[in-house]
Amino acid sequence: MANDSNRFQAIISHAKEYGFVFPSSEIYDGLQAVYDYGQWGSELKKNIKDYWWDSMTRMYENIVGIDAAIFMHPTTWKASGHIDNFNDPMIDNKDSKKRYRVDHLIEAHAELLKTGGKEKESDDLLASMDALLAKDDFAGLKKLIEDNKIKCAVSGTSNWTDIRQFNLMFSTEFGSTVSSDDEDNKVYLRPETAQGIFVNFLNVQKTGRMKIPFGIAQIGKAFRNEIVARQFIFRMREFEQMEMQFFIQPGTQKKWYEYWKEERMKWHLALGFGKEQYRFHDHIKLAHYADAACDIEFNFPIGFKELEGIHSRTDFDLKNHQEYSKKKQQYFDNEIDPAIGKPYGNYIPYVIETSIGLDRMFLAVLSHCYEEQDLSTPEKQDSRVVLRFPSKLAPMKLAVLPLMKKDGLPEIARKIMDDCKTSFRCFYEEKDTIGKRYRRMDAIGTPFCVTVDHQTKEDNTVTIRYRDSMKQDRVAIDRVKEIVLAAII
Ligand code: ATP
Repeated sequence: MANDSNRFQAIISHAKEYGFVFPSSEIYDGLQAVYDYGQWGSELKKNIKDYWWDSMTRMYENIVGIDAAIFMHPTTWKASGHIDNFNDPMIDNKDSKKRYRVDHLIEAHAELLKTGGKEKESDDLLASMDALLAKDDFAGLKKLIEDNKIKCAVSGTSNWTDIRQFNLMFSTEFGSTVSSDDEDNKVYLRPETAQGIFVNFLNVQKTGRMKIPFGIAQIGKAFRNEIVARQFIFRMREFEQMEMQFFIQPGTQKKWYEYWKEERMKWHLALGFGKEQYRFHDHIKLAHYADAACDIEFNFPIGFKELEGIHSRTDFDLKNHQEYSKKKQQYFDNEIDPAIGKPYGNYIPYVIETSIGLDRMFLAVLSHCYEEQDLSTPEKQDSRVVLRFPSKLAPMKLAVLPLMKKDGLPEIARKIMDDCKTSFRCFYEEKDTIGKRYRRMDAIGTPFCVTVDHQTKEDNTVTIRYRDSMKQDRVAIDRVKEIVLAAII
């Protein structure tokens, strides 16, 4: 299904039609690369957040969470290197005035070559691009674009400008009497949540009495003035990250990098989408802070793309914060170093980072679980769209449906609601035929529906209908809650 743009369009339409994702301020025609989550989308997003947060902060006893502010002291971004280095090389097409990120432009061409059967040319092109990017050789990159006759998708021409760097940070001003060019009052909307963790490293370490190795996790908004932003929620200007910085002894980074690669892959695989949906991609050009880095790529409808990054950040961030703030960012390690028989003593810890985009994870879940099924029989044409969400991520866990709006059935259904709604999200509906109600629940991914009918009044049983198999069983009312609870833990 990779690169199936019809499927991607169908998913985007479904997301809107069923209250998952809306374009931001749509009544004003939207705002490019900014989206709002609707009634079911916000539930799904929250469940993904909880799944990550709980596994990080509960499953690992040495990881704690924080919630830092979006605004940070401007020097943070000088120290982190974002003011000087958070740039993307861009190229403009002179005819269409369209701006492209150079790597995306070349990658799209490589993908075209690949789908046209020219695998080797595609691989060679990507390898040449990586080598040139690693050297920041912009003239070489422009030549590569020209030699490969890469054209603008809008104008269809190869009339390119030179390649230039653009900083991706948004800025605003603090205070009310400030003119926009007043550099002293300029603050940035954080482009990553990681720095909120680094500047709180000692606060958390001391107040939490944390011992190395330990981690600090955080979920929060990040902002990037992405130039190419046309891929629904894959690339947004306002998005959320789920990041964890793991503080370790210098020299142990290789071991911990491998450890976190494995742990994070396990986390993804536990959702049951299948091993073949993921792959690692090692970075050749390393970011300014890293000594090793890779992505976990997911098989999105637009092809295999980055879902999560795992970075060995060395002591780059803490060391720079120490230098810029003039405050020591050291840890005293009283563990005995077997080599010298004395404590390891003071050092600036090294860091392994795991960083996953919440919105990208949302898209991975939504796109993988979206299924159009043909249910036609010789007698009757039929189909359904079903979101086969893992039960623990589904926005709604249980629908309670009285078969009819009379004969005391709604009252029994209401009792089931009252019994279950304190434990998980339930939905009550009495309108339309039962078939239509099932299909609406399939379309938002509700794993269980129970129907209250006349037999219920006689023997206290209901029909439970399973979303994926569409099978129906008769179960005692007092088993409903336990069946759902067992599926969502
Ligand atoms: P890309 O190469 O796709 O721009 P990146 O390498 O710049 O991503 P990181 O800085 O490593 O991304 O950020 C960590 C994670 O944050 C990414 O793996 C991705 O899931 C998410 N992310 C980054 N930029 C965006 C964005 N513009 N919209 C949504 N999610 C994003």
